[in-house]
Amino acid sequence: MTTPNAHLVTHPLVQHKLTLMRRKDASTNSFRRLLNELASLMAYEVTRDIPTSEIEIETPLEVTRGQVIDGKKLVFVSILRAGTGILDGMLSVVPGARVGHIGLYRDPKTLTAVEYYFKMPSGMDERDIVVVDPMLATGNSAVAAVERLKELSPKSIKFVCLLTCPEGLKTMYEAHPDVPVYTAAIDRQLNEHGYILPGLGDAGDRIFGTK
Ligand code: URA
Repeated sequence: MTTPNAHLVTHPLVQHKLTLMRRKDASTNSFRRLLNELASLMAYEVTRDIPTSEIEIETPLEVTRGQVIDGKKLVFVSILRAGTGILDGMLSVVPGARVGHIGLYRDPKTLTAVEYYFKMPSGMDERDIVVVDPMLATGNSAVAAVERLKELSPKSIKFVCLLTCPEGLKTMYEAHPDVPVYTAAIDRQLNEHGYILPGLGDAGDRIFGTK
């Protein structure tokens, strides 16, 4: 089951790396390396339609024209803490991108997302945002993060994760139908603890070795 906001990245390299990451016996080291590689591939996919401009350059043989992107206009916003694991891989292919961080925790009483950290580059109204978090599970933090970012009137917002599930996609689509979700897989379901099944476990723990 899917929703119109979902962009499933089916490239064989993406699927291969994701399968290896899911294995419970993948070490922290290999999980992190695969995540970096996968994040670069996801960056490639999510930047497919970003604007380019033409500049004049000189090759060793003659003057010609070529397309360039303005990486500085792009902001990768990491949802703490697991989103940080995706940043390096994305920055390896868009090294000029700016980076923002947003920290949210779930209030145990109200179960709503509460912001504890928010740091963005200036001039967000002139920038395209890519929000990153490996798992779009309940969708509550993603929805709250996007809501907060919309207050800054960015030119566009996209969301990139590795894994999601029908529940997360639906929550996101109902709150922000204008935000496309790029994902490497749409898994079967959420369990009662908010984990994706079959999933890959706790992404933060697996990235940082805090299990
Ligand atoms: N966050 C995770 O790290 N894993 C899940 O399965 C769901 C949310």
